Amino acid sequence: MLQESEARYRSLVTATAQIVWVTDTAGQVVTQLPAWQAFTGQSFEEYRARGWTAALHPEDHQRVEAAWLQAVATRSLYEIEYRLRRADGCYRHVIARGVPVMTPDNEIQEWVGTCTDITERKEADRRRDFTNALLGLFAHKPSSKEYLDAVVETTRNWTGCRAVGIRLVNEHQQIPYESCVGFDPEFLRIENCLSVERDKCCCIRAISQSMQTSDAPLLTPGGSFLCADSPGFLDQLSASDRGNYQGNCVRFGYASLAVVPIRFRNQILGALHLADPRPGFFTGAMVKHLESIAPLIGEAVRRFRAEAEVSRYRDQLQDLVSQRTAELERTNQQLQLEIAQRKEMEEALRETARELQRSNNDLEQFAYVASHDLQEPLRAVAGYVRLLERRFPSSVDDKAREYIAGAADGAARMETLIKDLLAFSRVGTHGAAFIPTDLNPVLQRALSNLQQSIKTANAKLTHDSLPILPVDAPQIVQLFQNLVSNALKFRSQRPPAIHVGAVQESQRWRFFVRDNGIGIEPQYFDRIFQIFQRLHTRTRYPGTGIGLAICKKIVERHHGEIWVESRLGEGSVFHFTVPVLQVKS
Ligand code: ADP
Repeated sequence: MLQESEARYRSLVTATAQIVWVTDTAGQVVTQLPAWQAFTGQSFEEYRARGWTAALHPEDHQRVEAAWLQAVATRSLYEIEYRLRRADGCYRHVIARGVPVMTPDNEIQEWVGTCTDITERKEADRRRDFTNALLGLFAHKPSSKEYLDAVVETTRNWTGCRAVGIRLVNEHQQIPYESCVGFDPEFLRIENCLSVERDKCCCIRAISQSMQTSDAPLLTPGGSFLCADSPGFLDQLSASDRGNYQGNCVRFGYASLAVVPIRFRNQILGALHLADPRPGFFTGAMVKHLESIAPLIGEAVRRFRAEAEVSRYRDQLQDLVSQRTAELERTNQQLQLEIAQRKEMEEALRETARELQRSNNDLEQFAYVASHDLQEPLRAVAGYVRLLERRFPSSVDDKAREYIAGAADGAARMETLIKDLLAFSRVGTHGAAFIPTDLNPVLQRALSNLQQSIKTANAKLTHDSLPILPVDAPQIVQLFQNLVSNALKFRSQRPPAIHVGAVQESQRWRFFVRDNGIGIEPQYFDRIFQIFQRLHTRTRYPGTGIGLAICKKIVERHHGEIWVESRLGEGSVFHFTVPVLQVKS
C-alpha cells in the first residue's frame, strides 16, 4: 500500500517540469536525481551527499545549507529561494521545498522535495513593480527634474546597471543629460555637447532615426540600440564606418550599452541611455520592456514642458497686468491731481465771479445813488441860471447872456448824462421779472417814443412780425428805442430806411435793426458797446456814449448776445438774440 502510493507520488513529480529530489533521513543525496542532473549538469558523483550545494550561487551557499540542516534537525518543512547554476553556466532563481516522508511508526523514512525555476515569474514581478513605480511617479506629478531623477534611479535599480541617463533634445538641437546617475563626469562633459544636427553616433541616430547600415547589428525591432560589447563592435567596423561613431563609451569603459528613444506620439523627444562596464549586461527582454515604458516618460516630459509654458505665459500675463495696473494707477493719480487742481481753480473762479458780482452790484448801486442824488442840485443850478436870465434882462449884457446860455447848455447836457447813467444802472438794479410778452406792441411803444425823430428824419421804417417771448418788457422797449434812435441819428445823406427783423434760430430768436446810415469801421465793432465810447464829436452827433452799453446790458440780462455788422458808408445791422426759454431773470 505504502509502496504503491509512493510510486504514484514519484511519477507525479517526475511528470512536472520541476526538479524532484530525494535524500535519506540525514539529508544526504543517495539516489540519482535525473532532473537535477539535467538542470545543473552535475554528475551523480558531484551532487551526491552534499555535493549539490556546489551548484548554488556562492553568495547563497551558506544560507541554504543552514536552512537545510535546520529543517533536517527539526524535521520541519524546508522552503527557501536561491540562485542555482544551470548547465549553461547562468544562474536561475529557484524556490526549493522539501518535506520529510514518515513511516507508520512516525519515523522519518526519507526527504522528498522539488526545486521550481521561478526566474521568469520573478522577472515579470520585477517588471510589473518597475512599471508601477514609473506610473506612480507620473501620477505623483513632482517637478520635471524630480520626476526625471526618480525615473533614472528607478531604472537603475531595476536593471542593476552602472549608469542611466535621460537625454532630451534642447532648443539648440543638443542632447544633454537632463538627469543621470553613475556616469563618469568627463564622459558627461563631452557627451552633453553633442548635437543632433552636427555629430554622428548611434546614440544620436537613435533620436534622429537616421540609421546607418553599420548600425544594423545593434538595432532592436523597437528602434533602440543594444550593444553587448562596444570595443568588439567598433573593432570590426571599417575605417570609414568608424567615423560614424564617437567611441566615448569604449574610451570610458562602457562595454554594454542600451539607447532607448523616448517618444511622444510620432515625435522623439530624446533617449534613455544605459551603460555598464560588464559585457552583455543588457538583454533584449530588458530593452523591450524599456521600450514599452519609454512613451510614458515622453508623455510626462511633454506635460512638464506644457506646464512650464503655461506658467511662463501666466507669469508674462501677470507682469503685463501689473504693468498696466501700475500705469492705470499712475494715470488715475495724475487725474485725481488734475481734478483737485481744477476744482480749486473752479472754486477760485467762482469766488472771483462772486467778488466781481458784488463789486458790480456795489458800483451799480453807487452809480444809481450818485446820479439820482445829483439830479436835485443840478435842477437847482439850471433853475437859478434860467432865473438870472429872466429877472435881470436889462442888466445882463451880451457877454453875460452868452455865459448864462453856456451854463444852461452845460446843465442840460449834464441832465442828459445823469438821466442816461441812471438808465444804465437801473438795468441791473431795477429790472422786472421775465414774463411772456408779445413783442409787437413792445416795438410799437419804442417807435411811438421816437415818433417825432422818425418824422423829422423822414425815415422809412418797416418791421417783421415779432414773436412772444419771456422778457422784461420795459427793457426791450428801451433796447429797440436805443437801436432805432441810433439808426436815425447816424443816417447818411440818403433818406433813412430802417428795418426791424426777427428770425427764429433753434433755441433762440435773433432780432436785428438794419439801417442805411453812415456805417462803422470794423475795428470799432467791439468798442462801441463799451460805456462812454463814441466815434464822433458831440457837435456832429449829439450823445453820451451810453446807449449801446445799456443795450448790451439788457441783452446780457436776458442771456442773449449782441453784435454789429457794418460797412462804412453803406449802413449797419445791429443783431441781438433772446432765448426761447428764460432760465432766470
Ligand atoms: P451815442 O449814440 O450816445 O453816441 P451809443 O452808445 O449809442 O452812444 O453809440 C456809440 C457809438 O456807436 C456812436 O457814437 C456811434 O459812433 C456808433 N453808432 C451807434 N449806432 C450806430 C449806427 N446805427 N450807425 C453808425 N454808427 C453808430
